[in-house]
Amino acid sequence: MEDWRITNQHQYLDGATLVWDHYSTDDAWDHDHCELCWAKFPEDESAGYRTRDSRHWICKRCFEDFKEDFSWTVAENGQPAKNNHLEN
Ligand SMILES: [Zn+2]
Repeated sequence: MEDWRITNQHQYLDGATLVWDHYSTDDAWDHDHCELCWAKFPEDESAGYRTRDSRHWICKRCFEDFKEDFSWTVAENGQPAKNNHLEN
């Protein structure tokens, strides 16, 4: 099933391990966008699912819509997931 939100995310988000977290502006970036619907953190969403390297954010709604398509795993906040492997 195609969705307007899907472009090339499967190339880098398939099977990703995600962490539910509050968006923090302490880092070098002061905002991010949901990888799928482009909702803006922290204005539109104050928390969401991020990849463990914090490079990609996914809002709660998109997570629910696509978690099966992408086979996402949710890790406990700050804890490495089982079957930990390096991501670059
Ligand atoms: Zn979204």
